[in-house]
Amino acid sequence: MTDSQEYIWLDGELVESEKATLPFMTSALHYGLGVFEGIRCYETPRGPAIFRLAEHMERLIDSARILGFRDLPYTAEQLGEACKTVVRANRLTSCYIRPLIFFDSKVKNLNLDQGWARVGIAAWYWGAYLGEEALEKGARMNISSYTRHHPNVMMTKAKITGNYANSVLAKTESVRLGFDEAIMLDPQGYVAECTGENLFIVRNGVIYTPGTWAVLEGITRDALITVARDLGYTVVETQLSRDHLYIADECFVSGTAAEVVPVTEIDFRTIGNGRRGPVTHALQKAFHAVVHGEDPRYAHWLTTVNE
Ligand code: PMP
Repeated sequence: MTDSQEYIWLDGELVESEKATLPFMTSALHYGLGVFEGIRCYETPRGPAIFRLAEHMERLIDSARILGFRDLPYTAEQLGEACKTVVRANRLTSCYIRPLIFFDSKVKNLNLDQGWARVGIAAWYWGAYLGEEALEKGARMNISSYTRHHPNVMMTKAKITGNYANSVLAKTESVRLGFDEAIMLDPQGYVAECTGENLFIVRNGVIYTPGTWAVLEGITRDALITVARDLGYTVVETQLSRDHLYIADECFVSGTAAEVVPVTEIDFRTIGNGRRGPVTHALQKAFHAVVHGEDPRYAHWLTTVNE
């Protein structure tokens, strides 16, 4: 296993990573005109396997459609194959995969019809995003002073690169204040999501999560809802206020990078008994089994890289 990236897939070819450079005048760099994905590949008994590759490719194409790209040079299937190629080329067994479709043009403009889409895909080893310790001990979070996007300002169903300036503002502020991550409210003041994770609470044995009206349709979120229901839990999508979080028995967040992480403190208030709760732990264990190919019921969520 290597944790460096030797090759990047750029516009249809594998390129040595130090040669995968872009001109300073690339429009995407100046205006945040790109769409991307974050995907994980896990070690399984059948070798490295990418978790929910088809869904990630579908969301990538949907993001491009939402941003307004008209002609993409590759199909979802071709990009999925390219993801597998990057993992193989870098001889990675477990990794994070980052496809990026970005806007390039000859003239400087803000019109997507006067340029073209280019595509790059990188892969690298990436451990627990919120830290190994947080997986067991839990993360400390605060309600951000920044509001999540209104869907008529920056559309929340798309992973548009420019959207993430909002996440960076919130994350940087929270970490500088001494927290691990920011929880963001939607423009109506209800709980939305974190800077790169969806959020859940547990109260009296029922799991609640905000609906997807103002948040990203997280693929981990979707997997956890399915797995939780299969385990017999009731999962309710509803509006949550910030004080719902304070009185929850458990709180956890989900994302490709973060996976499933308990939240044990919010705004200096202890959540539940301040330790990872039983529902969070059960879902962490179930998710771990699913992504590592140890639960045949969800085998269709894994795409092997070498077979
Ligand atoms: N919300 C935001 C804003 C994100 O960037 C992410 C990470 N993609 C998520 C939620 C979680 O989505 P997923 O489970 O698909 O990674």
